[in-house]
Amino acid sequence: MQNSTPKDIGSINFGLMEPEEYREMSATKIITADTYDDDGFPIDMGLMDPRLGVIDPGLECKTCGKHSGSCNGHFGHIELAAPVIHVGFTKLIRRLLRGTCRECSRLLLTEDEREEFYDKIDESRKLGRDLNDVTKAAIRQARKKDRCPFCSEVQYDIDHEKPTTYYEVQQVLASEYSQRIAGAMQGDEEAGVERTTPDELAEKTEIDIGRINEILSGSFRPRESQRKAIEKALDIDLTEEDTNKLMPSDIRDWFEAIPDEDMEVLGINPERSRPEWMILTVLPVPPVTARPSITLDNGQRSEDDLTHKLVDIIRINQRFMENREAGAPQLIIEDLWELLQYHVTTFMDNEISGTPPARHRSGRPLKTLSQRLKGKEGRFRGSLSGKRVNFSARTVISPDPTLSLNEVGVPDRVASEMTQTMNVTERNVDEARRYVSNGPEAHPGANYVRRPDGRRLKVTEKNCEQLAEKVDAGWEVNRHLVDGDIVIFNRQPSLHRMSIMAHEVVVMPYKTFRLNTVVCPPYNADFDGDEMNMHALQNEEARAEARVLMRVQEQILSPRFGENIIGAIQDHISGMYLLTHDNPRFNETQALDLLRATRIDELPEPSGIDDEGEPFWTGYDVFSELLPDDLNLEFTGTVGDDVVIEDGQLLEGTIAEDEVGEFGGEIVDTITKVYGNTRARIFVNEVSTLAMRAIMHFGFSIGIDDETIPEEAQARIDETIEDANDRVEELIEAYERGELESLPGRTIDETLEMKIMQTLSRARDNAGNIADEHFDNDNPAVVMAESGARGSMLNLTQMAGAVGQQAVRGERINRGYEDRTLSHYKPNDLSAEAHGFVENSYTSGLTPREFFFHAMGGREGLVDTAVRTSKSGYLQRRLINALSELEAQYDGTVRDTSDTIVQFEFGEDGTSPVKVSSGDENDIDVEQIADRVLDSEFESEAERQEFLGIKAEPTNLSEYADDRLAEGTEVTSDD
Ligand SMILES: [Mg+2]
Ligand SMILES: [Zn+2]
Ligand SMILES: [Zn+2]
Repeated sequence: MQNSTPKDIGSINFGLMEPEEYREMSATKIITADTYDDDGFPIDMGLMDPRLGVIDPGLECKTCGKHSGSCNGHFGHIELAAPVIHVGFTKLIRRLLRGTCRECSRLLLTEDEREEFYDKIDESRKLGRDLNDVTKAAIRQARKKDRCPFCSEVQYDIDHEKPTTYYEVQQVLASEYSQRIAGAMQGDEEAGVERTTPDELAEKTEIDIGRINEILSGSFRPRESQRKAIEKALDIDLTEEDTNKLMPSDIRDWFEAIPDEDMEVLGINPERSRPEWMILTVLPVPPVTARPSITLDNGQRSEDDLTHKLVDIIRINQRFMENREAGAPQLIIEDLWELLQYHVTTFMDNEISGTPPARHRSGRPLKTLSQRLKGKEGRFRGSLSGKRVNFSARTVISPDPTLSLNEVGVPDRVASEMTQTMNVTERNVDEARRYVSNGPEAHPGANYVRRPDGRRLKVTEKNCEQLAEKVDAGWEVNRHLVDGDIVIFNRQPSLHRMSIMAHEVVVMPYKTFRLNTVVCPPYNADFDGDEMNMHALQNEEARAEARVLMRVQEQILSPRFGENIIGAIQDHISGMYLLTHDNPRFNETQALDLLRATRIDELPEPSGIDDEGEPFWTGYDVFSELLPDDLNLEFTGTVGDDVVIEDGQLLEGTIAEDEVGEFGGEIVDTITKVYGNTRARIFVNEVSTLAMRAIMHFGFSIGIDDETIPEEAQARIDETIEDANDRVEELIEAYERGELESLPGRTIDETLEMKIMQTLSRARDNAGNIADEHFDNDNPAVVMAESGARGSMLNLTQMAGAVGQQAVRGERINRGYEDRTLSHYKPNDLSAEAHGFVENSYTSGLTPREFFFHAMGGREGLVDTAVRTSKSGYLQRRLINALSELEAQYDGTVRDTSDTIVQFEFGEDGTSPVKVSSGDENDIDVEQIADRVLDSEFESEAERQEFLGIKAEPTNLSEYADDRLAEGTEVTSDD
């Protein structure tokens, strides 16, 4: 197995099929639109002809004699009454029409040009480039020719009316040419164009005066050279467009005459594909196995959409033939032809822009050939790249702070549907029997058993007791999921490793999956209706691998940036902030309540005795209970103060986002790296429960009143905005007087824009600062912004101060009408208001114009995200396809399926980002690490001293080691 390589595919060729090939592979010609006769048997030469294959079990295929299941089905064919265009090739057809002669069908290139493009094609093929670029250039060159270089026939332009109509457009002499000439000879006094007499015209055009008079009277149609002369002399246009519709049969005749050599210049292999095959004369009918009919409960047959479409095609095809034989007028024939074209087109693709889709009687658009293949649910992305899987469940998620971050709450109905295989041995036989005797409906039950002879039996309410007695060593029991089982949990889009993690099951009532909120960041999940998938693992290897490698606690550190991605979020942060910011005091009951959901079952020594003689515990001391006893840490915290932890005791600082938060919370990060994942899991779990108790103790809510400011503050803000407007006005005036000096490297216009932007952004900041002064420090919005729980001071500024400048593409809003953004402003108004500065706050409310500008700015963001997600999704699918067969081997190499080495060491350096510390502000404390290693290595202080006392013999290199260290060049992470 190790060395089995996939089969090498030498090459794949694509080409068109010849009508004769369609007929040859056809099992039968289809001539009637009827499917079944009155007795329910398929009609011969109908769409359900038994020669097309069988779907009903028991019946025999009339072509190959096999039964349903082993017969893949056989194609039939319809002889089309008239040729129709294949929608898949409309662009190529247009290109060929434009590039070849309408008379002799040769490519409109001279011998030299043709050689040149042929060489280019050859080159592109060798270099593996896109041939399309060359053929497009060749057609562009050919289109330039007015006349055929071979038969000198005049060439016309080709108009393509989507989807499948082509016209030849030619410029011909307008029918009212004499009026146009006479009108132009009148002159135009206002425009300063003088009158022209016939004599003058004759002189200018060098046409005989008699002819001129004949032309003016309309009795002589000027020849082309004469027309051009008159047009030039009078500066008019005497032509009109004449369009000539090309019927598919015309195009087919045209293409049939294109010589093979010319096809090669266009990169088409004439042996495999002739252009006239793009015009269908025979339509292949897919086998019934590709469009099976369904028998409903009431015995009625429901046909596949493709069958419906084929019925339409055959009906129209017949009507067309009948009408033609009856000698119907050309107009009717053309209408029917168009209808036939429409049905064949929508049979192949029912989502063509500009064409109404063919619909079912219910109004639902039919799902035809291309709809089966295209898109997310199509054959490629829906059935080949991705498929439905067994042992999986999907439902809505909801939060449960009482769970561990390692756990997942699984609804009981899911737990009793999804099973784990138990290999029954002497040791677990009693347990296995218990499961079986509970039956399939009671919760820890079993759904199936497998006897040692391999027979699978379904456990039912009726047979469960009996079966339980029979179960013995050697049997297999498919038992329900129970608490502690390991399952894989996933949220899409699965963009990184932590999108799929292993959780331990906790079976719960109700219908949703429950998660601890601290695992929201790695999954990018919230609870506004998000759904997630669960996969039950089916063998011991998978379960062991999941437990060791994939469990949530093993993913606390992100391989993306090497710091913790799991940590306290939102209310946890607010709670920790409230608990530690002013280091509040708690009495015994309160302290116990705070720690009730943690492992701590005994309070530490009280922090002190209050004035009434009662003992109290401070927030610091309560929090410190969660820390490892020997943790030492010192860093600058979220709020800007120093956080100091000595011997597992918080001495200084506020615990907030940078301390215990999701992306690189210092304490979580350190605990994970120093004390391991299990300790970190316990810490994160406990921090989140402690924080929840704390936030409940203090109470925390936010309302609109928290964002309103006193009137005098509002007045000051208005004043600031007024000032800014004045300053902008001054800048504009200076600019208009030409007194504005341009900044280096900028034009005057750019300088003005920059200065205006600066002024206005300063104004918003000032407004924000004024608003800020009026918020207390215990304002909940301020607490959230300060602690990093949610929101920012900018959000507050915009709610209470001013929303500020709206921007599209990083500039003030400049689009809209000519020289102005909205019709409410004078043209070329450069003021703040006219370019999207919103001086109101969200609480005071936006004016209609401000609202409109705000929507413009907001739209950009929405479009950006929409475009980004679809682009990155496509990129990811391509990457997955390209890398899917690469595998990291146990020898450390990365290889593909044919054992070719792609990387000698994973990631080229064999380094795991999780095990690397980096970052400027994150110097590695080498001394501390060394101390720790020494501590664990030597039992007694004497041994340790002895070890440290050993001086290595100085070598040439290390002689100066001490000196260098003295200069402060300790090794930092950047080295
Ligand atoms: Mg959501
Ligand atoms: Zn068959
Ligand atoms: Zn020609």
